[in-house]
Amino acid sequence: MLFLGAAYLLVLRPFRQPHPPVHLAPGSLAIQGAKLYPSPDAAPLEGATLLVRDGRIAALGPDVPVPDGARLLPCHGCVVTAGYWNAHVHFTEDKWSFADWKPAATLDAQLQDMLTSRGFTTVVDVGSDLRVTLSLRRRIEGGELLGPAIYTSGSGLYPPNGIPYYLREQLPFFLLWLMPQPSTPQQAARVVEENIERGADVLKLFTGAYVARGRVLPMPEAIATAAVAVAHAHHQLAFSHPSDLAGTLVAMQAGVDVLAHAPDSPQGIDRALLDTMVQQHMAMVPTLKMFATTVTTKAAYLQPIYEEVRTFHGLGGQLLFGTDVGYMTDYRTEEEFSALAACGLNAMDVLRMLTTAPAARFGVSQEKGTLAVGRLADLVVLDADPSQDVTNFARVRATVRLGRVVYLRPE
Ligand SMILES: [Zn+2]
Repeated sequence: MLFLGAAYLLVLRPFRQPHPPVHLAPGSLAIQGAKLYPSPDAAPLEGATLLVRDGRIAALGPDVPVPDGARLLPCHGCVVTAGYWNAHVHFTEDKWSFADWKPAATLDAQLQDMLTSRGFTTVVDVGSDLRVTLSLRRRIEGGELLGPAIYTSGSGLYPPNGIPYYLREQLPFFLLWLMPQPSTPQQAARVVEENIERGADVLKLFTGAYVARGRVLPMPEAIATAAVAVAHAHHQLAFSHPSDLAGTLVAMQAGVDVLAHAPDSPQGIDRALLDTMVQQHMAMVPTLKMFATTVTTKAAYLQPIYEEVRTFHGLGGQLLFGTDVGYMTDYRTEEEFSALAACGLNAMDVLRMLTTAPAARFGVSQEKGTLAVGRLADLVVLDADPSQDVTNFARVRATVRLGRVVYLRPE
């Protein structure tokens, strides 16, 4: 009995309420004298006021009266954008385990360090223990923690005998046992159905897995296709880690929606292939800082990856911002912004990756991604203008989600 009780508390309890309702913060909040970027496709508003009421944007413009009792956020020539998305994160570091039980103050500090102090109000977890992400999500939406909206894939699917070498080196054996490596399309479909039943919102496939340094094992196409079909039947997006040409081709043939990385073994990823990806409406999360940080900073390795991103962008491909934090323990975003600039993207291209592109991809453009009356009050307050220097996107003074201040830098 005691054993069953303990098993429930540790194993099953985190799965209760996988899709908690969100709560908008009551009351009024205002930012005055700001430069507002309503969207990457609209002119900025100078010297403007933005007013939030009950979790939504109530007014924005030059002559907006602020009601008595509204909370004023510090501005002094600040810049305001819609809340950022990070379309590639993980909650796999040890410090997230037992997220159902950890003190709120501990988890708040961790969420702040990794996400909210960087401006992220929505994140896409593409590979974590569902017990962790569902616990965090329930406690965030229940008002116990200050954190972003979380979409999660739960565990990714790997090719048979295809656990990447860097995970084999990093994770304990019992976690490796739990990682799904379906060997038939039927098995793959069942794993995806189970993941969705337990609370997953997106699918993550390793269509190309680095089983050894420099050696990629592609996922059999029939397995990838079966997995994506189940995700799509549930109106969920499929993400894939492609690694090389073979892994990219499997992703394309299976109907994957988003490449969670630029392919970093670029042989054969030419302009014609990138154009086909654009025609298929496939999106890409470059994760350029991650490659430089965890593989090598050598130009011979990085430049061809930058060239892929530059060409894909030039062809009109949809890029989403993501950094692979959680796998990467350096959470700073500056280097990703400067790497994107080195690929030829300007500040509004980057703002699109951070806001409107992911909101459109996830079908929530009516709620998120722009500053407009009636939209959810997901905001980032910056010290300086990203149009002057794209790394200013990292100079976050405050982050607001659903009208609630989830991060305020100490003055
Ligand atoms: Zn990752």
